[in-house]
Parts: sequence; structure tokens; C-alpha cells
Amino acid sequence: MKSLLRHSLFGCVVALLSATSILSAAVEPATLLNDPTVKAALAAVERNEPETLNLQARLTEIPAPPFNETARGLEVKRLFEQLGLKDIRVDKVGNVIGVRPGALAKPNVVVAAHLDTVFPEGTDVRVKRDGKFLRAPGIGDDGRGLAAMLSVIRALDEGGVKTTGSITFVANVGEEGLGDLRGVKELFNVTLKGKIDSFISIEPGSQNRITNAGVGSYRYRVTFKGPGGHSYGAFGMANPIHALGRAIAKIGDITVPAKPKTTFNVGRINGGTSVNSIAFETWFEVDMRSETMAALDAVRDQFNAAIADSVKAENARWKNRGAVSVDIEMVGLRPAGQTPEDSSIVKIASASVTAMGGIPSYGAGSTDSNVPMQLSIPAVTLGGGGESSRAHSLDESFDSTNSHLGPQAVLLTVVALVR
Ligand SMILES: [Zn+2]
Repeated sequence: MKSLLRHSLFGCVVALLSATSILSAAVEPATLLNDPTVKAALAAVERNEPETLNLQARLTEIPAPPFNETARGLEVKRLFEQLGLKDIRVDKVGNVIGVRPGALAKPNVVVAAHLDTVFPEGTDVRVKRDGKFLRAPGIGDDGRGLAAMLSVIRALDEGGVKTTGSITFVANVGEEGLGDLRGVKELFNVTLKGKIDSFISIEPGSQNRITNAGVGSYRYRVTFKGPGGHSYGAFGMANPIHALGRAIAKIGDITVPAKPKTTFNVGRINGGTSVNSIAFETWFEVDMRSETMAALDAVRDQFNAAIADSVKAENARWKNRGAVSVDIEMVGLRPAGQTPEDSSIVKIASASVTAMGGIPSYGAGSTDSNVPMQLSIPAVTLGGGGESSRAHSLDESFDSTNSHLGPQAVLLTVVALVR
């Protein structure tokens, strides 16, 4: 509470200076700081933070490997019930949904954090605490997001905050890796189709960080096949591994723009049976990313051409004896998109950070917000507070210094959007 009060006066001044810049439908975050219920809710976030950290640790210790988030999801469902949310359900893919109704069904803001981690079944996810540090795989990503979301729900209740619009809270599946945003895709395309007016995802990071650009990606597994045979006896036929080598060499020479930042990476290769065999099968996996769909499609065109040329060259080299064929399988599609800096949701998130005494920073990332961004539904990803480091590694850690500022900034943003 101390930090909040210290900064609130400064926040009001800044907000007054830019009072005309925010849309009329929502409320200025800085003026909300004078509302006794909001004040009480923000105080509750800070007061409850030690318990929020315990909850963060407890949820992190429930394993949630890719495609197996059920146990953690059921615990969040139980917490949603305990916190008094309404219309609680688990949808077809495993997203856990609960509603905090306002006077009206609209606007409906969705606040989400993802259940899944990148860590496989059997990973030691026990949390080690060391002063202000919590260490465990997944403690920040997205243990912090889930805990911050639950802290917001509890504080809204304890503060007695009333809203015009509704807030729908979601613990979603499938954010990471080959999960391919399947939870949020289901949410926008099926479960809550047409019912989401804006979207906030909570990920590890500073409360000052606003991710308003979604880096899109294409991911493929490319498999080369041929009859294969003895390296000496069958010599003279096209070789799938040689075709793969040609393809990767060409991909290595692809040129991409620096702006929008566009990248490519062959991340895995596999195949062959022995050193003295012409392989019958080999594959590689490639990831291409960009901030715009146009640049992403352009790098994919070069990738497709590299594959086609390589197969052609390998088969021509051996006059089509034992011709190699190729199969390109899409294993990931994350749409690229943007929520402009002058859009109301970004302005409100930014004004909330300012009202809390912080300096907002904008960035691009690959998060659940990519999906609404591509649908042109206002969306941002906000930091859950504290400082996370070494995400996606076994020595992931979370520094809880002033971590209450994360859920406080999210709370202020959400209330401003539905007041
Ligand atoms: Zn994450």
C-alpha cells in the first residue's frame, strides 16, 4: 500500500495532463485511485501478496506438461469456485473459465493466464524458497500469471468493486510450443466466440511491460523419403539425407528483413539407420517468425522454394534413380498481429502503469494475445510483477521484490476497461 499511495499523486498529475487522450467509454485509471472500493482492492492485493506467493508455489508444484494440464486446471477450477466466480466450466480442450458478472454482460473483458509449462512429465517441479526468491521450473512462466490472476479476483471481491461490464477469467491450456495456442484458439473460435470485447493475458515480467505486438510463426516438419539401401551395394540412387542437407544449406542462405524482425531456424534434425546405409527417411523441423504476416509469408515462400529446389537437384544428380520425395507438415501456426499504441486498451494499460508510478514499455512477443490481435480484438499481454529469469529452463527463478505491483496494475487496467 505504501508504494501505491506514494505514487498515486504523481499518477493523477500525469493522467490529468493527458486526460483527453483516453476513450470516453472507459474510466481513467488515475481517477479510479480515488474510488474507495478500488483503493481497498489494491490494498488487498498488497496485503495478500505473501499468500499469493504461496499459491504461486503450490500451483507450480502441480505438474502441467504440454497436453496434460488437467490436474492443475482442476485445482484452478476449485479456486474459482472458492472465490465465488459464476458460470464456472471447463471447455472441450481444457480451458477453465469463470465469470465475475457486472451490471451488464458487456463489455466483457477476458483475463487469462496459461496452465501449461514446457516441461515434460517427470520433471522435478518442487519449489525451493530462498528469501525473496522462488525457484522451480515454471515458477514464473506461468505460475506467476496464474497467481496474479487469482490475486486480482480475490482483491476485487475483498474491495467490493462493482463494474458495469463483466470480467471473464480463464486458465487456458496450450500456450507453449507445440500446444500452438490451442487453448486461446478454442476460446475465440468456439467457447466464447463473438463474446470477447478485449483480452488481457498475464505472463511473467515487470508490471511496466505491455506486449502489444504478436510475433507470428510458422513451424514445419519436413520429411524426405526414398527406397534406401546399402551404401556400397546400392550406390547410385538419390539420398534423402543428401536432399535434406541441400535444403538446409539453402535455408541457411535465406535473406530476411531486419524490420519487421523476421527470423528462421532449423531446430532439429533426425533420420538414417546406420553409417553404411542410404537412409530411407530423414526429417528436420524449422521455425520461422515475424511481426507481420506479409514478412512471415515471404520467408515461407523462400523456404518452400528451397525444399522444392533441393529435391529436384538431388533427384537430377542421380537421374531419378531411387527418387526422393518430400512431405511438409505444419506443426505450428501462430498468427502475427498488433494492437496499436494509440488503441484504447494500450492507453489504459499504459495509464495504469503510470498511475502506479511506473514507466510503461512496449514490446513484441509470442503469447496467447497473438490470436485476438490477428482477429483485431483489442489485446495486450501484461507482466505479472516481480522479476522472472531463466524461463523455460530447469533453473527458472522468480524474484518477488515488490511483486504485488503486477496484479495491482492488472486490476487497475481491468476495472478501467469495464467500469
Ligand atoms: Zn508463458
